[in-house]
Order: sequence, then structure tokens, then C-alpha cells
Amino acid sequence: MDDFFRANIIDYYEHPRHYGHLENPDIVYHDVNPTCGDEITIELKIEDGIVKDSAFTGHGCSISQASTSMMMEDIQGKSLDELRTWGKKEILDLLGIEIGPVRIKCALLPLKALKAGVWGLESSVDDEDDDL
Ligand code: ZN
Repeated sequence: MDDFFRANIIDYYEHPRHYGHLENPDIVYHDVNPTCGDEITIELKIEDGIVKDSAFTGHGCSISQASTSMMMEDIQGKSLDELRTWGKKEILDLLGIEIGPVRIKCALLPLKALKAGVWGLESSVDDEDDDL
């Protein structure tokens, strides 16, 4: 039942979209998930409060890298005001499968980096409560 989404995650992992660097990014943020060894750096180009372009580099497990790639793709053209409201649900919707407690930090790493990079809210997705 989840086969499509699992294949999709592997596809993003093996062929990540928006992988690389931007010219003169407005925001660069590096973050790690030490429990799994995931590491990403996101780069954003912001114009008039809108994400004009986004890219990332990193390495780690398939969930973390696919989640980051999917988020980089999805946030393009979105306003920072809209992204400010994002939480676990938006990321898990992109991934499309149930993520167990061990892997949830992998999945949410790009969201954590986004929030920290843009608003300095590093702890915002660290809490464990399921406020979906
Ligand atoms: Zn991971």
C-alpha cells in the first residue's frame, strides 16, 4: 500500500532534486541529526518574503535526504509566512508514509534547519509531543 511512497523516497534519495549550491544564497543553515548521523546544509534565496530558490547538500539516511529534497522542492514560491506555520504534518505529508519514532528526527531535520535558519527557532520541532 505504501509501495509508491517508499519507491518515491528511494527515488529522491538516489536522485535528489535541488541538490547543490545556490549563487549568493540569503540563508545558509547547517544542521545535524546526531542520533542517525544525518547532516544537511540548506541554502535559500529569499525575495520579498518568498522563497525564490532553494538547494541543499548533505548525507545520511534515505529518509533524511529524501525529506530534505522534497521540502526544498515544495517550498519554492511559498511565502515565509506560510512556511512559518509548517509543522510535522506538512513534512510527513510530503513523505507520504508513517514514520516511526526512531526515524522522525530524520524526517524532520530539514524542517528544523528551515526554522532555525530563517527564524532562529532551533527548539521548535525538538519537542516530542505530537501536535499534529
Ligand atoms: Zn536518518
